[in-house]
Amino acid sequence: MKDLLIFDMDGVLTDVSNSYREAVVLCVQHFTGQRVSRELIQEYKNQGGWNNDWDLSQQIAADLGVPVPHSTIVAKFNEFFLGDNGNGLITRETWFPEPGLLERLADRYQIGLFTGRLKYEADISLNRFAPSMTFDPMICAEHVARAKPSPEGLHTISARFPGRRLLYVGDTIDDARSAAGAGVPFIGIAAASHSRRADILALFAAEGAVAVIENINEIESVL
Ligand SMILES: [Mg+2]
Repeated sequence: MKDLLIFDMDGVLTDVSNSYREAVVLCVQHFTGQRVSRELIQEYKNQGGWNNDWDLSQQIAADLGVPVPHSTIVAKFNEFFLGDNGNGLITRETWFPEPGLLERLADRYQIGLFTGRLKYEADISLNRFAPSMTFDPMICAEHVARAKPSPEGLHTISARFPGRRLLYVGDTIDDARSAAGAGVPFIGIAAASHSRRADILALFAAEGAVAVIENINEIESVL
């Protein structure tokens, strides 16, 4: 029986700095007229609780003095992110794993996903970048009642694969807290270019991360 190696998606497998993060910037700018920095977005992410970029966009706009109904935020965000025919910012996303990495990991581990994305959003990227890979389990936004930092998604996986060892790989404090809450060893990813790198390293350490790497391509050195 292989151990389960579970990945968060954004910032771990996919580089979303020009997709989700830019969609937050454009969405906030649309409603407030202000163009917020990536650093500010990272500060919110480091506070924890802002895994959902719709909620985050709504909160930043509100903090800038412009309350916007949630459904209005979601519609505008998706206009930027998905575009009319899938031609939005999502097309600017790139894939971190080098060719062969996931295949080698899949030889040693059963690989799965626990992401805050809805499944159709996750599938868009998986079909584009890793069509031959199987991610099982795949726990997405609609599969949990409570989003990260709740450990619910990891508990769901443990229940589905009783007795199997789990590892979780993520890039935010909510990922680390979810793993800590579930008693699952956590490997943190903190990119060299991370705008609040010292903060995230301290946060990962506080949550008991078993290892921290700069990029998913370094993961074999800590397994
Ligand atoms: Mg992430």
